Amino acid sequence: MSEDQPVLQLLNVESAYGPIKAIRGVSLKVRPGEIATVLGSNGAGKTTILKTISGIIDPRKGSIEFKGQNITAKDPAFIVQQGLSHVPEGREVFPLLSVKDNLLMGAYTRKDRDGVGRDMETVFNYFPILRERATQDAGLLSGGQQQMLAISRAIMAAPALILLDEPSLGLSPKLTKEIFEIVVRINRERGTTILLVEQNANMALNASDYGYVLENGRIVMEDTCERLREKDDIKEFYLGLKDDGVRGERRWKKKKTWR
Ligand code: ATP
Repeated sequence: MSEDQPVLQLLNVESAYGPIKAIRGVSLKVRPGEIATVLGSNGAGKTTILKTISGIIDPRKGSIEFKGQNITAKDPAFIVQQGLSHVPEGREVFPLLSVKDNLLMGAYTRKDRDGVGRDMETVFNYFPILRERATQDAGLLSGGQQQMLAISRAIMAAPALILLDEPSLGLSPKLTKEIFEIVVRINRERGTTILLVEQNANMALNASDYGYVLENGRIVMEDTCERLREKDDIKEFYLGLKDDGVRGERRWKKKKTWR
């Protein structure tokens, strides 16, 4: 894989649940070492994008490349083995396994025992509460702690790319901020590329390098997060910074690109 080649590339991907088209012609790129984000409101199709990438849903159309390899509609277990970890919405830890065993489950494809030990130490340093609770059942953790565990379990696979589905869901603003700070550290310190989907546009735009805006299953805007933060539409509809009585009305009708 060359330096400029995207880690992940979706081209015109369409996925549906029976007659309901959840994403329509989605194209996006995630470049090596960046945090990319897909912003969108409830039901926009964010989770469907991630499920389609990780092989849980087969797309009806389009293609998905990961590290230059076509992974469209491949088996989820195969996709994980290629180095792509998915932290699903709602965490989904194994409630009856201990925190430590949940972490080891994340590393099940790895043969480098020393590396696994080092990564366990790294996640305990990111989230010290997990070290304290290492022998407790994961089901006894709070929602925020389960989110920490789900992210840590993904790190334990030593992936090239982490798909992160709405880490802020159900968490207090303080915990959300803490989790986002660690997500940025994981990216900067480990060089892990991240694709994050979020309704919390403020957190996502501050943490990420590049952003896509998804509405009704279509990408309607994309740009660097620095520039997206300055756009009136984004300020108004996603950051709640302007309220001139037209909230909820969408002014962009087709994809706009500033790249
Ligand atoms: P949220 O933030 O609420 O998770 P989202 O942006 O992740 O929203 P998706 O969960 O991808 O959106 O849903 C996209 C569309 O597909 C919605 O209209 C949703 O109702 C529909 N949908 C999602 N899952 C299913 C399913 N299992 N069966 C039928 N329709 C579904």
